[in-house]
Amino acid sequence: MHDTSSAQNKTCVSFCAACCVRKLLTRLPAGEGAFHVFRLLPSSGGSASAPLLQTAHRVELLRDNGRLLRRFGFEECDAGSKNEFRGVRRGHLLRVLADSLPPGTISFGERVSRLVQQGGSAGSPWPIAQLEKGSTIEAGVLVAADGARSTLAREGLGLPPPGYAGYTAYRGVACPEGGTASLGIPLDTIRVVWGTGVRAGQYALNDKEVYWFTVFNAPADEAVPPSAEARMADALKYVKGWAWGLEETIRSTPATSLSRSRITDRWTLGAFGKGLVTLAG
Ligand SMILES: Cc1cc2nc3c(=O)[nH]c(=O)nc-3n(C[C@H](O)[C@H](O)[C@H](O)COP(=O)(O)OP(=O)(O)OC[C@H]3O[C@@H](n4cnc5c(N)ncnc54)[C@H](O)[C@@H]3O)c2cc1C
Repeated sequence: MHDTSSAQNKTCVSFCAACCVRKLLTRLPAGEGAFHVFRLLPSSGGSASAPLLQTAHRVELLRDNGRLLRRFGFEECDAGSKNEFRGVRRGHLLRVLADSLPPGTISFGERVSRLVQQGGSAGSPWPIAQLEKGSTIEAGVLVAADGARSTLAREGLGLPPPGYAGYTAYRGVACPEGGTASLGIPLDTIRVVWGTGVRAGQYALNDKEVYWFTVFNAPADEAVPPSAEARMADALKYVKGWAWGLEETIRSTPATSLSRSRITDRWTLGAFGKGLVTLAG
């Protein structure tokens, strides 16, 4: 976030723009329009010790009982071989993005409390946001990427609050002792496994780490297991007896790196920006 108290120094201000970018990271098409940031990340094989970017181009749709529903390559899809899927740790992407900016561009630990003006009209040409610490920032364009419970969506853009979608997710990055090969996960493949009321996905970030998620139906007020170990046991419960190495994948995840989130959505009929302020993420 750029502090632009001086009107001369207007810039594109994005709250946690990097966090917003990470949402797109696995869905961007390759080619001229794609984010150049990926070219900054060493791909698998680019660094022997810690490859940071894995490219996948195949999908497997599977059943929890071991049945293969469909296996296909991106070249078989409508958009053909222009599609690409990239697996990278968010922390690595954020570091590369941050390092590519001039020193002092980003201010950490600043929280926005409200939008003072949205800009774009006569008399209020630029957006101005207020920070919790009291100062204001003025920008040429304001991109709010402050998450599902976005303050700017609520306080600045007047959007409806997100609603609970009816399901919850666990996510993590597994570090299996024998590498991704020991889990039988091909490096070039995204796996989606369907169970009853539960869906899981996994793909390799490199030959040592596997990203995975599970989503499962859950009541809105379901209590969150109180410790990392209890959350691990809970996550395992949803894939008990599943094929495709799901249990082993979750078991090889450091318990403290496991995250649990309630999935929410916000329906705006496409209206998520006003003047020179917009919501992303
Ligand atoms: C089950 C599941 C699986 C997924 N799998 C993938 C996947 O494989 N690949 C993929 O790319 N995405 C995946 N996603 C989606 C991805 O996790 C989210 O879409 C993404 O994290 C949303 O990014 P965001 O920047 O909008 O919000 P967040 O990641 O929530 O970031 C918001 C940021 O804003 C900051 N913030 C909050 N309030 C303020 C404030 N008032 N002022 C300033 N800053 C503030 C927060 O500290 C935080 O840093 C998955 C999501 C789920 C639920």
